[in-house]
Amino acid sequence: MNIPDRTEKISTEQAGLILDQVPSGILVVDQEFKILWFNQWVETRIQLSRNEIIGRLLGEAFPEINRRNLIQALELVIHSGLPLTLSNRIHRYFIQMSPDDPTLGLVDMPQSAVITPLYQEGQFSGMAIMISDVTERVIAEQKLKREVNKLTVLHQIDQALATLDIQACLDEIKTQTQRLFETENVHFCLVERNGSNSFWELTQHELPEELVTRVVLQGEPLLIRDTAQHDLYRASPPEHCSEITAPLMIGTECIGLLTVRAAEKFTYIRDDLVLLEEVANRAAQAIHNARLHEQEQKQRRLAEALSEISRSLASELELSNVLDRILETISTVVPYDSASFLMKEDGIVRVRKHRGFEQFGSTQQVENSIWKLEEMPILRQIFETHQVVLVEDTHDAPGWLVLPESGHVRSWAGVPIVMRGELLGILSLDKAESGFYHQDHIAPLTAFAAHAGIALYNASVYARQVELANLDGLTGLPNRRFFDMRLAEEMQRTLRYGHPTSLIMLDIDHFRQFNDNYGHLMGDDVLKKMAHVLRAGVRLIDLAARYGGEEFIIILPETTPQDAMIVAERLRSRVQSAVFDVQLCEAVTISLGVAGVPMHAKTPLELIQKTDEALYIAKHNGRNQVVLYEALVK
Ligand code: GH3
Ligand code: MG
Ligand code: MG
Repeated sequence: MNIPDRTEKISTEQAGLILDQVPSGILVVDQEFKILWFNQWVETRIQLSRNEIIGRLLGEAFPEINRRNLIQALELVIHSGLPLTLSNRIHRYFIQMSPDDPTLGLVDMPQSAVITPLYQEGQFSGMAIMISDVTERVIAEQKLKREVNKLTVLHQIDQALATLDIQACLDEIKTQTQRLFETENVHFCLVERNGSNSFWELTQHELPEELVTRVVLQGEPLLIRDTAQHDLYRASPPEHCSEITAPLMIGTECIGLLTVRAAEKFTYIRDDLVLLEEVANRAAQAIHNARLHEQEQKQRRLAEALSEISRSLASELELSNVLDRILETISTVVPYDSASFLMKEDGIVRVRKHRGFEQFGSTQQVENSIWKLEEMPILRQIFETHQVVLVEDTHDAPGWLVLPESGHVRSWAGVPIVMRGELLGILSLDKAESGFYHQDHIAPLTAFAAHAGIALYNASVYARQVELANLDGLTGLPNRRFFDMRLAEEMQRTLRYGHPTSLIMLDIDHFRQFNDNYGHLMGDDVLKKMAHVLRAGVRLIDLAARYGGEEFIIILPETTPQDAMIVAERLRSRVQSAVFDVQLCEAVTISLGVAGVPMHAKTPLELIQKTDEALYIAKHNGRNQVVLYEALVK
């Protein structure tokens, strides 16, 4: 509209044109209330042409107007000579709509009117009536209501997002946005800091990469009124027809985006986009807070786990227990479904400890697993580099071998436990979901491994000390102390399950004489070679120990005394035919006694006594022979 300058005189025609554009009704009447003119606004509402109305009296033209009240109002203006504003309530009093047909009024529910007296050369000449339309007020009211509603909703969102749990926070963002825009069709994704898009899939639909890239790069919201016409979707038209997208911004960094879609074209206007932006800002802040909190929690858990491991250092020295503690505490730092501790012995890798395999039914397999290092490229890599190796998805990892015990593993972390440059073992963490282990895990795993290394090192030093305390220095056989412990254990098992256990006790014949003849050093040599003969002559589950001086003792679990007699006789014969020293002209011989539980004894002490008695008889009967205790009883 071309508004003329105030100082410029305008013609009546021009004035009419201008008044036609005003978004209110304007009616001009003369002093007798004859209608002189009205603007377009009135015309469109009464649906009558100006010719039909102009010149008629106001009360005649609009009979539905309560004449008395209107006349009263107009007369009030004439008498006072002042403009009169009829607000909603006063207006209702003066001007009432026809009770029969409320739609047939001068206006649809007029809400306010201003009546102004008009003067011509100082003389009262009529009145101008200006009417405001309800619809405009309704729009304004609706707008205000929406504004209030928006603030209420945003406040609710603020409250809902005041959670520090990241998943709960993500769920809330979605729920609240769905509620606000009254649609299920809400999607959002978070973007990794390194630029690669990692979708935080909360819906069945993925957001198109071009949309993500554009919004993330520009950090600007995007309103697509018609997807069919938009360059982002022109290549492949989507199911939805319009959408709004707002970036999740933390400062200048975009951490993701939030999209609302609609099935209809032109569903959203700028205001909706602004609202979505407000939600996105709140969402971004909430995610940021939750992430900070999570990081703090992780840090705290790591510190706790590390101090727990350090505590174990002091309290736990037994290797097996230390391994248990390591597997237990690492789960608080980095979760796993199953985990094992692998150790290398002569190019072979064995599982020394494991946890969690029972849920996959593979406990037995993992216990029996032995792998050759050269066949396991990933393990070999860890042994060579001493670095953590992560397998995000075992299905597409080139060196990954699917073994019976690891069929459930989709994501894997191998953590070397290194101490003083020596690799003590590998902590193997398994997860049944793919993509679980990622770069973020390396730092906490490495920190944990350093502490675990100290614990393991101490355990191995301790184990060595225990071993030394249990071994005889000359022959390398277990000593009497160790023998006593093992015999006690073996007896318990025997008594519990009723399986037999036998004992062989042997003593070198005339050894004092041997020492006298050949010297003590050669005597020691004989003892060492004797140990070798004994060790080679029994099964792995048997235990040959040096009982003292030139006496040896052998525990044979799951063996009857009769079977033990066969072993004893074999040993006797091997010793007799063994070449102990080239300078030696005579054979070294031994005497042996055999007894067993449960037939000959009930306690370890009793068993040793009975075996010793049998040995004594063997000596007494001429040496270089085996005697079974049973024979003595008969
Ligand atoms: P017997 O046939 O009755 O067993 O006669 P023996 O001479 O072997 O008698 P006894 O079993 O009492 O002798 C023990 C001797 O074994 C004493 C000692 O000279 C010798 N002896 C014990 N321990 C050692 C050792 O560590 N090294 C050497 N060289 N000799 C030992
Ligand atoms: Mg002796
Ligand atoms: Mg002897």
